[in-house]
Amino acid sequence: MRSLTIASISAAILLAAPTSAEMIGGCKFDRDTLTFAGTPVEQATCLLRKVKLRGVKEDQPLPPVIRQLMEVGGAPSAAQKEAAMAAFPQPYQAYARQYADWPASKTEAGLPAAYFVIHDTSTPFYGADKFPRRLDTDHRINAFTPYMDGTFAKAPVAHIFLSRYGQIWAGHDFSEAWRATKLESRVIGPAARGRFVHIETIQPRRFIEGFTTRGHTHGPTPGFSKRQYRQLAALYVYASVRAGRWLIPGFHATVDDGIPDAHDDPQNFELERFAKELEKLVSPPQIPH
Ligand SMILES: [Zn+2]
Repeated sequence: MRSLTIASISAAILLAAPTSAEMIGGCKFDRDTLTFAGTPVEQATCLLRKVKLRGVKEDQPLPPVIRQLMEVGGAPSAAQKEAAMAAFPQPYQAYARQYADWPASKTEAGLPAAYFVIHDTSTPFYGADKFPRRLDTDHRINAFTPYMDGTFAKAPVAHIFLSRYGQIWAGHDFSEAWRATKLESRVIGPAARGRFVHIETIQPRRFIEGFTTRGHTHGPTPGFSKRQYRQLAALYVYASVRAGRWLIPGFHATVDDGIPDAHDDPQNFELERFAKELEKLVSPPQIPH
């Protein structure tokens, strides 16, 4: 029977073909190529969806400056590299200059760093208490000590920690293959290490009014300080210099989208403010409007 023959042939082809690539999560991460689905513009659009309360993701337009960098590709220019490093505070600036020519991490299979992941620390945790009035200068909120002294984990959880007054501490150099998402540590494993660089941006948390579980928390509004957006932009350019290519920016919650118990950070991240700071560093290249 003709139809049976076709079915048999199809089955034979399916069996003979190599296993189709496994796609993981909302932005369809390919386990073999360690890449999200689509062009860099499409990947950035998926990875920069707004992360709302309790990790709900919402589409938002890609700012023109990011779209342009994703479309044109290549690496930051010497002028952009200098602008980024000049924006850093000391002592991080001296450190960044010293290591500027060291390549960023690679995976064990030799794939270069490709993704710049923005987190919020969700720390300190205030429970049912109110947030302090002046978050950006509060000593307890902005202290790096708990990230350094083993309070949370044996080793620093990210490459970079960024306080609300714009101070930077490097927990791991960008040359070190590190992981900070469930996608890397639980789903892919060591093979993914080196593909992502991670920035922890300090922002406190507390319970949503009426709730007492860690799955029901919120961050302050606005979420981040002006200095954090400025330094995030400088770190993005600098990490791209180290990687030798414009990294694809994304959020922890969108990287882990679809993975059980995924985190919901960063909260209240204003993509337009990040893009505005980025424009200052990557001009004079003309940004289309
Ligand atoms: Zn995170």
